[in-house]
Order: sequence, then C-alpha cells, then structure tokens
Amino acid sequence: MAPALVLVEGSRISAVERGSAPAPSGCEVTHLPGTTLLPGLIDTHVHLCGDDSPRALDQFFELSADDLERVITAGLQAQLAAGVTSVRDLGDYEWAVVDRRRAAGQGANEPTIVASGPPITIDQGHCWSMGGAASGVEGLRRAVRDRADRGADVVKIMTSGGAMTVGTDVLACQFSLEELRVVVETAHDLGLAVTAHAHALPAVEQCVAAEVDGIEHCSCLTPTGFSTPPELAAALAEAGTLVCPTLGRALGSEPPPQVKALMERTGATWESRLEQVVDLYRAGVILVSGADSGISPGKPHGVLPEAVIDLLDCGVPADVALASATSLAARACGLADRTGRLHAGLDADLLIVDGDPMQGITALRNVRAVVSRGRDVVTRSSVADRWAPHAEVVKLL
Ligand SMILES: [Zn+2]
Repeated sequence: MAPALVLVEGSRISAVERGSAPAPSGCEVTHLPGTTLLPGLIDTHVHLCGDDSPRALDQFFELSADDLERVITAGLQAQLAAGVTSVRDLGDYEWAVVDRRRAAGQGANEPTIVASGPPITIDQGHCWSMGGAASGVEGLRRAVRDRADRGADVVKIMTSGGAMTVGTDVLACQFSLEELRVVVETAHDLGLAVTAHAHALPAVEQCVAAEVDGIEHCSCLTPTGFSTPPELAAALAEAGTLVCPTLGRALGSEPPPQVKALMERTGATWESRLEQVVDLYRAGVILVSGADSGISPGKPHGVLPEAVIDLLDCGVPADVALASATSLAARACGLADRTGRLHAGLDADLLIVDGDPMQGITALRNVRAVVSRGRDVVTRSSVADRWAPHAEVVKLL
C-alpha cells in the first residue's frame, strides 16, 4: 500500500492524495507511522435497542424510555470506538431509533444511522416483540406505507423464523410468495429497498423469486444443515442481491443456547457455515458485512471487525472482505454517495488502524483513530503510511 494524505474540511473529505504529496500550508498535519487509513466501517445489521445482554431481545417491555435511550447511546458509542462510522438498524423496538433520529437529528458524535423501524413479521413470528406484526396483502401494504410515512430508510421483513424467538420455525417461510411480492412492490413504489431475514432454504428461494434487494443471514438452512443449491447461488449473483451473512462473534464467546440447540438439531456447525458463505462468494454473490450487533453477549456492538476477519477465514480475499464493510456496505445502506470510500466530497468518515489489514486482517482490531463526519478528527489532515484503496475495490468486483 502507498502512503496517503487525506484532507478534511468540515465534515467532508476535500481531497485524497496518493504518494507523499505535501499538505497545503497552514494545515495541521499528523503523521501516524505504521498505520493504515481506511474509510470508516459500516455495520449493515445492528439492533441499537439491544444491549448485548443474554436477554437483549426479550426485555423490551421492561425498559423505560430513558433505559432505551441509554441502550441506544451506549451501542452507538461502542460502534464508533470500533471504527464503525455508519450503522443500519434492522430491528427497532417499536420506533425508538427512527423517532429518536427525527426528534434529535443525527447526533453529532454518533455514527450515521440508517434505520428500518420494527421488522415486518407475522403474528407471534420472529421478533414479534419489536412491534412489526402484519398480515394479509392489505395489512402488509399498509405496514410498508407506514414505514415510509414514519421516515424509515429501508423495509426489513422476517421471511423465516429465527432461533432467537421461541415458537418460530427457522426452517419454514413466514409469508406466502404473493405477500412478499406485495411488500417488495409497495416498497419499491415508495422508493424504499427491502432486505429480508431468511435462514430457511425455502425462504431464501422465496426472496429471490420476490426480488428483494438484500438478504440477511442467507444461511439456506435445511433439516440437515446449511445447503445452497448452485442454481440458487447463481440466481443471487445474477440479481445482484446484497447478502449479509451476519458473521462476527466476540472472541471466545459461545452461541446462545437456542442457537446451539438448533445447530445440534440440524447438524450445522460454524465451519459448515463458513463453507456455505464461501460458496456464495465463489458464485459471485455480493457480500456485505453486518454483525447482528447488540443481540447477545457474543454479538456486542463494535464486533463488526470480527465479521470481516471471519470472511478471510472463509477464503474471501482481504480487499473484498474490506469492501464488504465499506464501499459495498455503503451501497447496501443507500449511503454510497455519502460514505464508504476515501473520496473527495464524501463524508470524512475515517478509520486509522495500527498495521496493515491487507497483510494481516486482524489489524482491524487495533483502532488508532476514528473520524466521524469530520468530528473526533485527530488532526485537520491525517497522513498514514499505507492505505487501503477502496475506490478501486468497487471496480475490481
Ligand atoms: Zn438481526
């Protein structure tokens, strides 16, 4: 990697110079030897109302408005500390995250927030306690319109059950294909993208048929483990569906008991999951990184670098893995014209880490400095010895 000079003016990047270009005179410069400069990371799948505890998704009814505010603020700060300068919330409790943003505006020292509001689900379906249950074609149409009216940026729908909600079937679809199509059509008419939670293989197939924009998890789970038919992977690649495999877990953590039980029942293992993800990559599927942050002790806010590191364990090259949490993640979040690359005119969202993640991806754990929309800037301009060329990564893919 070549040295880089990034000039920041206000909240934006004003120029990116390669080589050892001189900084403009009168400009405060900090030179950070041994570091690499990257775009700030983007976690495409977070639950800001989740406090990383074992009961994170089960305790909403017990939280006061003040409690929720504290949980959301703490999650955002933990994300920022890990170098995450944008998050996409895909599981609000009621409308806490969306309403907070509308009331208070985007917090100055917080990551940029993209939010779905409560995920659409069936009655007593996966994550029903978030308040997004809807049924029937008319009910679903109304639910999507409601999201547009309330200021959601994206529609999230639970198309299969999930391990974290008791009584739901992870191996089965929650909606009919007709219902899912109505959600996608209505959302698209309103200018909203749809991303769908899908574990069950039939749910992933349904998502492809309904032409959703993104799929969360996409584990293609069957009664006998993970299994992606090659024609399904090819269809995902062909459609350009953005797949977030929600990898990443806190070092040394164990899966929650519900997930462990599911893995035992289906014979699924962590290793077979990584193989399934690499099958998607080899088929040409676009992978983005989101960690399902906040839902459990193994999935705390700020764990996103581990999702990128896991992609390398799958055999995904470092530049593609880094793009999954930067330029491609920005595309998934509808933020491609604002962040995710080191480019003049974009938000000054920067991450500086010790070492070189292109040589050793675990360098992502060694955060040296974080700049969010020009704030918390270490200096007016930052010079790193090396940089990750994300502007080029998009073209390579
Ligand atoms: Zn989730």
